[in-house]
Amino acid sequence: MTAKLIKGTEIREEILGEIEEEVKKIKAEHGKVPGLVTILIGENPASMSYVTLKIKTATRLGFKEIQDSQPVDISEEDLLALIDKYNNDDSINGILVQLPLPKHIDDKKILNAIDPDKDVDGFHPINVGRLMIGGDEVKFPPCTPAGIQEMIVRSGTETSGAEVVVVGRSNIVGKPIAMMMAQKGVGANATVTIVHTRTKDLAAHCKRADILIVAAGVPDLVKPEWIKPGSTVIDVGVNRVGMNEKTGKAILKGDVDFEAAKEIAGKITPVPGGVGPMTIAMLMKNTLKSAQLSL
Ligand code: NAP
Repeated sequence: MTAKLIKGTEIREEILGEIEEEVKKIKAEHGKVPGLVTILIGENPASMSYVTLKIKTATRLGFKEIQDSQPVDISEEDLLALIDKYNNDDSINGILVQLPLPKHIDDKKILNAIDPDKDVDGFHPINVGRLMIGGDEVKFPPCTPAGIQEMIVRSGTETSGAEVVVVGRSNIVGKPIAMMMAQKGVGANATVTIVHTRTKDLAAHCKRADILIVAAGVPDLVKPEWIKPGSTVIDVGVNRVGMNEKTGKAILKGDVDFEAAKEIAGKITPVPGGVGPMTIAMLMKNTLKSAQLSL
């Protein structure tokens, strides 16, 4: 059996197309467009390339996009003042501070200073709380888990009553996606198990999963014999395992042994081209939602 590929690149395009239409509508009806500011501190090459991609996507969608680059030695006080400025700017609906921050800045303090109604990353404790309550309380689901759920739904995978196993319990992926899948509602209503490094028999849990979500950061952690035949496998892992000498680009691998797993699973996400491309699309969706809520 060869699994159907759930392609993040294709689903991302679908979502961006939908956002583009909504932006046009808001512009025509209210004369406004969603506003997103990306604050980049210093010149970390990985951060710069993420930010460039975010700006490119926001611009393509017709958002107002501000890239606010600050020197690496900016003081915590000045950064807090900058966030305060954008918190009070009505043309800005989403504030994004690119992580990691320099060591002299307390990132918790910075993220908590963002107005929860502009926290399109969904990391503010208020938004984490809203996610826990679920339903209409949820304003901004965190982007990678939201992308995972969107892929599950758009690939036609039944979630209601499904056994979902999440490998990993990080605050940015494992915990939120587990909570989202267990909530009442569309694309959820699942029975969820979270496993981690202290789990006694990882394989036994994974084998039960109708939907297996793996976010461990360990290349090929999940073996083909751990996969339930016909199940849906979402591989969140992005592991650099070498360098392509011809292109000079990193060789990426997921947390699942893809080549073998695709012969057993019913549906599977590739790495790269799976969950990765979804995150920015969901960031844009959250920014659009923030703009719609502010009207
Ligand atoms: P993290 O903070 O390092 O958390 C990893 C989790 O996996 C931890 O809970 C850890 O358990 C668990 N784990 C690690 N090794 C394990 C093992 N051998 N057996 C069972 N559990 C194990 O990582 P993260 O930030 O969630 O990211 C996970 C992966 O997803 C990374 O490869 C990252 O690059 C990728 N990622 C991709 C995207 C995207 O595509 N947009 C976004 C975010 C992350 P303990 O808690 O017990 O240590």
